[in-house]
Amino acid sequence: MLLITKNHTFGYELQKLCMVFYPDESIIVKTECQESDRIIITELDKGSTSTTLSVSLIIDQKQMRRSAELANDNPEYYDECERILAVLLFECLTEITGYVPEWGILTGVRPAKLMRRLIEEYGRERAAQYFKQKLFVNDSKIKLCLSALEGEETIINLSRPESYSLYISIPFCPSRCSYCSFVSHSVDKAKRLIPDYVDLICQELEYTARIAKDCGLRIETIYMGGGTPTVLNQPQLTQIMKTVSDCFDLSTLREYTVEAGRPDTITIERLEAIKQGGATRISINPQSMNDNVLMAIGRKHTSQQTVEAFKLARSLGFNNINMDLIAGLPSDTLESFSKTVDEILGLNPESVTVHTLSFKRSSRLSSAEGMPVHEARTAAQMLELANQKLESSGFLPYYMYRQAKMVDNLENVGYAKKGYEGLYNVYIMDETHTILGAGAAAVTKLKQPCGSYIERVFNFKYPYEYVSRFKEILRRKERVKEFYEQYRIPEDR
Ligand code: SF4
Repeated sequence: MLLITKNHTFGYELQKLCMVFYPDESIIVKTECQESDRIIITELDKGSTSTTLSVSLIIDQKQMRRSAELANDNPEYYDECERILAVLLFECLTEITGYVPEWGILTGVRPAKLMRRLIEEYGRERAAQYFKQKLFVNDSKIKLCLSALEGEETIINLSRPESYSLYISIPFCPSRCSYCSFVSHSVDKAKRLIPDYVDLICQELEYTARIAKDCGLRIETIYMGGGTPTVLNQPQLTQIMKTVSDCFDLSTLREYTVEAGRPDTITIERLEAIKQGGATRISINPQSMNDNVLMAIGRKHTSQQTVEAFKLARSLGFNNINMDLIAGLPSDTLESFSKTVDEILGLNPESVTVHTLSFKRSSRLSSAEGMPVHEARTAAQMLELANQKLESSGFLPYYMYRQAKMVDNLENVGYAKKGYEGLYNVYIMDETHTILGAGAAAVTKLKQPCGSYIERVFNFKYPYEYVSRFKEILRRKERVKEFYEQYRIPEDR
């Protein structure tokens, strides 16, 4: 499908909105019109006092045109031009397809962040009205957004200008799940790299700790993710966690999460290493408790293994366990998803994160490949059902984000019992403070202590690059020092 942009630069945003309606189609953005039977023309025509914005389209022999006027002296002229074009496009596409996305014209990944900004500016009521009337978000998503925002608020307020979180990346997995776009090498292929990787990440952690100390930073949370950190054996986990506790000042640490991830990697020895290493929270991720679904997505474990891993972790004293689920998986039904939620609730974890399946280009599972992909509406019903069941069992939404190409343009929501919210999840999504990343594919996100400027420092993506070009990793970390020299932490804190 062609998307023509005339006299404006909002092609990227409008393209994302088109993808919500046509997720399987490639939307090509051009500035010049061409012959096509699937074409959308978006145009901005600026007159002396007002601007005419219009969207005209031909799709499947249906034609449509919508237009609107905007005064040139509108104080938010540029943003309004973008919003109005999106609204016109949204109106045309809902009429042509009969589909009304629940998030309206919002395609961004952090709707709660936008809501917070609007609340600060206009107050809660007007912000909610803006979501409804100007962005066309439906009532249930507004409610979700407000409630996630409330949960986030307390956590964000714990952070200070000198705060940071540490991310430790273990980008290895026992096998690759078909829906996953994560940079994660199958252990079979990458196994030989693991010992060197562990030694080097310990060096990077040591170096990072020194820099954090020199810059006067204060650690709030640690998150060891991947990948599946529990592909590492007990000595390797211990080596990394001991390096962390030896090198970092953990006296201010509020949370230490290790993603135990795939239940088929969880053993008593590994859990003991994690516990002794100081982790306060782990995540065991069933994704589904339906074995047919697990097989369909290439997860090489059963629901029974999830139950056993969970009980084992409990018996070892883990009292803060998160479990991840995915709505919209192939071959899952509303009934089997409901059973999954019930079984998870039966285990009684402290938090549950409900993801929506996302079709990333780099995942093996994609809607375009014609796999038996779920009816999008069912994914929305699954989220609704999870929300009802979790809320009535005492879980509250505390963070939310969206990704590109999620089924039905839906969202991921973290639910937790009060006091068990995953702090790191909020900090990374909200971009509250600096994240220092270690390991392959880790990204260090430097946040200006009393402002909103963010700078990223990327580590190499693949473990083989990380291992072979390690000196460069340490060299790039120098930027952390320069950043804090440039953006100083206020002294009177
Ligand atoms: S979903 Fe998790 S366990 Fe599966 S391949 Fe991706 S990172 Fe690894």
